[in-house]
Amino acid sequence: MALTGAALALGAAAVATAISRAAAQQKVGQALAKYQGTPNGDQHCEICANFQPPNACKFVDGEINPNGWCQLFTPKT
Ligand code: SF4
Repeated sequence: MALTGAALALGAAAVATAISRAAAQQKVGQALAKYQGTPNGDQHCEICANFQPPNACKFVDGEINPNGWCQLFTPKT
């Protein structure tokens, strides 16, 4: 019982570390954002408010395809 509690606490600490690391960089990994290199219907990075031409994103790490898409998609206003 005590062992299970300790293991759970350790797991929670690891998640907290990963999140604070992401917050420090202010970017999340492509897998976490469910990024894909293809559009989702008529939604894609080039028309997203977070896209930083030519191939970056405010919130998602790494190289971003203008025709890609992720769960953080926010249409430009
Ligand atoms: S759809 Fe996602 S990866 Fe693409 S620019 Fe928007 S937030 Fe960034």
